[in-house]
Amino acid sequence: MFDWLIVGAGFAGATLAERIATQRNEKVLVVDRRPHIGGNAYDRYNDDGLLIHEYGPHIFHTNSAAIFDHLSMFTEWRPYEHRVLGMVDNQLVPIPINLDTVNKLYNLNLTSEELPAWFAARAEKVDPIRTSEDVVVSVVGRELYEKFFQGYTRKQWGMDPSELDKSVTARVPTRTNQDDRYFTDEFQAMPKHGYTRMFEKMLDHPNISVMTQTDFRDIQNEVSFKQLIYSGPVDEYFDFRFGKLPYRSLKFQHETHDTEVMLPTGTVNYPQTEAYTRVSEYKYMTGQVHPKTAITYEYPSAEGDPYYPIPRPENAELYKKYEKLAMATPNVWFVGRLATYRYYNMDQVTGQALATFRRIQEALPLDGVKSNVITEPRFVAAE
Ligand code: FAD
Ligand code: UDP
Repeated sequence: MFDWLIVGAGFAGATLAERIATQRNEKVLVVDRRPHIGGNAYDRYNDDGLLIHEYGPHIFHTNSAAIFDHLSMFTEWRPYEHRVLGMVDNQLVPIPINLDTVNKLYNLNLTSEELPAWFAARAEKVDPIRTSEDVVVSVVGRELYEKFFQGYTRKQWGMDPSELDKSVTARVPTRTNQDDRYFTDEFQAMPKHGYTRMFEKMLDHPNISVMTQTDFRDIQNEVSFKQLIYSGPVDEYFDFRFGKLPYRSLKFQHETHDTEVMLPTGTVNYPQTEAYTRVSEYKYMTGQVHPKTAITYEYPSAEGDPYYPIPRPENAELYKKYEKLAMATPNVWFVGRLATYRYYNMDQVTGQALATFRRIQEALPLDGVKSNVITEPRFVAAE
């Protein structure tokens, strides 16, 4: 008899398993239908001994000290700031668009003070800003939008930016300085020994049992449990009662090359050409020293594992129906990118899971004996 069954061993499921096991002293069974823990953040050593991310490059970044401190209980960190170049008009230029991007593409010598006026002269007035097209053309104008965003987005999502919520392309800012980092978050680092090792540590507790290659649907009537935490696709949980929620998938082409370095930076984006959206080289992120190198191409696809919820109004409407059902389902907690249909990064899912844990504590208060086991998180400082 388990107190909790947790579906999914990714950031959502593993974060909650650890909290419940250590802070509530309750028995947890975590199941995942994949053959490994870590969800989409799973990494592994390939046949050549290179650490790769099975589901494409995962770079950790957050502005939340609380989330960073929490994960620091399970890993040391390697400082890493991701940089991306885009192949645009046959040149490699920084993405997000910054001062150097504009000067290189247009053969100009603008300063940071002059660039805002240059953008303003090209920006289109859009009111209200609703779509992923609006949010870009209203800042940099149509030409840069087409060069950097339209083609990439059509490939990645199989639809035009005008059909997607503004939040999608708004993930990528525009800069007037020379900052060429992809993220500007306060905390940017990679788990020193990889994500999988971090997840192993999170789940290593006598109260936690883990079963991989185990689908919830196959065992739900065989295992007894009091409460369920579900981090799989919400529409699947409800047998697609209102229809399928659209998710976008990817095919990953992993390659090893007999050279020490292949790319000029961690990721190169292809907004104008190629069937893939981007190619990434893991050694930049992991810092691994090795005579060979591993890269991954990402090919967007309609078929396959659900990787991305697709943010657009009709999907949000459909999700609301499932959310209403989820809220009316007692003893089941929906958490994570698939179960709450949110285009969340790893830190946001961790934050959501920690918030869910606080709600659990309120809804299911412990008796005096159990609450004695509560310990403060220990902070393991980054090196
Ligand atoms: P998941 O990691 O998807 O875990 C859910 C788990 O549930 C899965 O392992 C699945 O197998 C399991 N499951 C589902 N249904 C069942 C069932 N019926 N029975 C058993 N198990 C089931 N975020 C960042 O912060 N930085 C990045 O650089 C970044 N890059 C990304 C790149 C790509 C290509 C993708 C796709 C995502 C990226 N993300 C990144 C997002 C990140 O992957 C997610 O935020 C995070 O992994 C979500 O965690 P989760 O636990 O909600 O879901
Ligand atoms: N995007 C783009 N061109 C780029 C990079 C991003 O058009 O060179 C758009 C695209 O729609 C993409 C979104 O911005 O899906 C978010 O980019 P991000 O790099 O955050 O995507 P993720 O890493 O989540 O796949």
